Amino acid sequence: MADWPYSTAAWRRLRSAKLAADPLCEPCSRRGNVIVATVVDHRQAIASGGEPFPDLSGLMSMCPSCHATKTNALDNPHAFGKRRGLAFKGCDLSGLPIDPDHPALGGYTPSQDDRTPSEDRLGTLANT
Ligand SMILES: [Zn+2]
Repeated sequence: MADWPYSTAAWRRLRSAKLAADPLCEPCSRRGNVIVATVVDHRQAIASGGEPFPDLSGLMSMCPSCHATKTNALDNPHAFGKRRGLAFKGCDLSGLPIDPDHPALGGYTPSQDDRTPSEDRLGTLANT
């Protein structure tokens, strides 16, 4: 069984509510793809100080592929050595990168030694 909080009834209710409210993968939707979400991700990882049971805006509906990309880029500090990758790959329908910290948008650059995702970074995707 999964570790706390994922093993709790409260998490299962919260996860179901998020998937009911946002049934499509949010990063895929930004890229113009319609993919059913099966994973609910904390926008800010619990290990990074995120709330275990945030309101729905603190969660993101995702497909397994997007979730793995985000987890490896932001939530796993060992995935890229000391560097943090981009959490959200690809471009939206206007051709702009969907990751608000993409260097083309003047945001994150891989040489930065800032491995903690900012709330602004994660909030930008949430508000689009
Ligand atoms: Zn996706």
